[in-house]
Amino acid sequence: MTLVDTPLAISGVQTPTKRSLAGLTRAELAEALRAIAVPDREIRMRAAQLWQWIYHHGLRDFDGMLNVAKGLRTLLAEHYTLDRPEIVTEQVSKDGTRKWLIRMAPTGPHDRGAEVECVYIPESDRGTLCVSSQVGCTLTCTFCHTGTQKLVRNLTTAEIVTQLIVARDRLGDFPGLAPPNDGGLVPGEGSRAVSNIVFMGMGEPLYNFGNVTDAIGVMSDGEGLSLSRRRVTVSTSGVVPEIGPLGTAAGSMLAISLHATNDALRNELVPLNRKYPIETLLQACRTYPGASNARRITFEYVMLKGINDSVAEAKALVRLLKGIPAKINLIPFNPWPGTRYECSDWPVIERFSEVVFNAGYASPVRTPRGRDILAACGQLKSETEKLRARARLMLEQDDDVPQSL
Ligand code: SAH
Ligand code: SF4
Repeated sequence: MTLVDTPLAISGVQTPTKRSLAGLTRAELAEALRAIAVPDREIRMRAAQLWQWIYHHGLRDFDGMLNVAKGLRTLLAEHYTLDRPEIVTEQVSKDGTRKWLIRMAPTGPHDRGAEVECVYIPESDRGTLCVSSQVGCTLTCTFCHTGTQKLVRNLTTAEIVTQLIVARDRLGDFPGLAPPNDGGLVPGEGSRAVSNIVFMGMGEPLYNFGNVTDAIGVMSDGEGLSLSRRRVTVSTSGVVPEIGPLGTAAGSMLAISLHATNDALRNELVPLNRKYPIETLLQACRTYPGASNARRITFEYVMLKGINDSVAEAKALVRLLKGIPAKINLIPFNPWPGTRYECSDWPVIERFSEVVFNAGYASPVRTPRGRDILAACGQLKSETEKLRARARLMLEQDDDVPQSL
C-alpha cells in the first residue's frame, strides 16, 4: 500500500493572542459572548446562531455569519477567532485511511502545544474517527506505549471536539463548505464522511470524565455536529465507578479493554485491575445503561504471544462474558521499541478467534486496512507511536449500529 506523507504547515506555532471559539460548549459560548458585553437578553439567541455557524456549517471566520449583525461580527473578530489547532502532518493511505498529527494551541510561552494523533478510517457504510482524550496516560498498562509517556494532561472539551472539526475540515465534510484549498481531500458524494467516533486514541477517557462527556454532548448536538450518540464509543481500561455515570451522562457505546481472563494476569497487564478486579468490571457492564443485544459492549483483547492467547483462555473469555450483550475484538499487538511483548502468531490468533466464533460472536479478526500508516505512526514527532488498529477492527465487525445518523 502506498503512503503519501504530507507535512503541512497550515499555521505557525505561536501562542494565540485571541481565544478560538471552535470546540466550546453552549455554556462556554454564552460566557464568551457575555465577556464582550453582549446584552443578557440576546445571549441565548446569539449563542444559538454561533453554534449553527461553527458546528453545522463549519465556518472558519465570523464574516460569513450572515444572520449576525455586522457590528457584532466585528466585535467577535476583535476578541476571538474560529481557528483550529495546527495540523503538523497528514498521512493518507491509498485505501483512504488518514492520520493527522495535531498540535493544540500552546497554553503559554513555554508550551509548544500538546500533540495528539487522530485517525480516520473510511468504510463503505461509515467513516470512523479515532480521537484522544488525554496527552499521554497516567495508567501504565504494560503492553501500551502511551502509558510510558511522561507528559500527561487532560485535553479540554474544545481540544477533543476540535479533533472532529479538523477531520471534517480536511475531508470537506461540512455541508456547503469546500475543504481548505491546500490539498484537503474531498470524500465521495453522499453521506457525511465522519459518522462514528471512537475514544481509542491516547489517554483514559474516564479519567477525563467531564471533558469527555461534554465533548460527546457537543459532537452529538442535533443542531451542530450531529453525530448519533450510538455511534460514539468510549474505550476504558476499567475505571469502574465512572462506567455507569458514562452511560447516563453521555449515552455512548462502551468498550472495555479486558485483555485477560483472570485477575492475576490482568493485574500485570492492566495494573488498574488491582483496584477494580474483573468481576467488579463485569458487574458494571451488566448494569451499563442502555446495553442490549442491539447495543452491545465491546470487549477488547490484545493478542500477546504466549501470554494470553491459549485456547483455554479463549474458552475462559467466552465463559466470562456469558450473559453480557458483548462483542469481542481481538487486537493484534502493535509492537513498539523496548516492549517485552510480541504479537501472537497468526495461526494462534485464528485458533483463538475460532473458539470465539463458535461461541456465537462475529469473526473478530480482520487484517486492518491502512495498516501501513498506523505502523508509521511511531515515526511522527508526537511519540504517540501508534493510533489504534482496533478502532477499525471493531468497526469492521460492528453491524449493530443503524446505517443512518
Ligand atoms: N485508555 C483507554 C483507551 C485508549 S487505548 C483504554 O485503555 O481502553 C485503546 C485500546 O488500545 C485499548 O484496548 C488498549 O488496551 C489498546 N492498546 C494499547 N496499546 C496497544 C498495543 N501496543 N497494541 C494493541 N493494542 C493496544
Ligand atoms: Fe492508558 Fe489505555 Fe494505554 Fe492503559 S491501554 S496505558 S489505559 S492508554
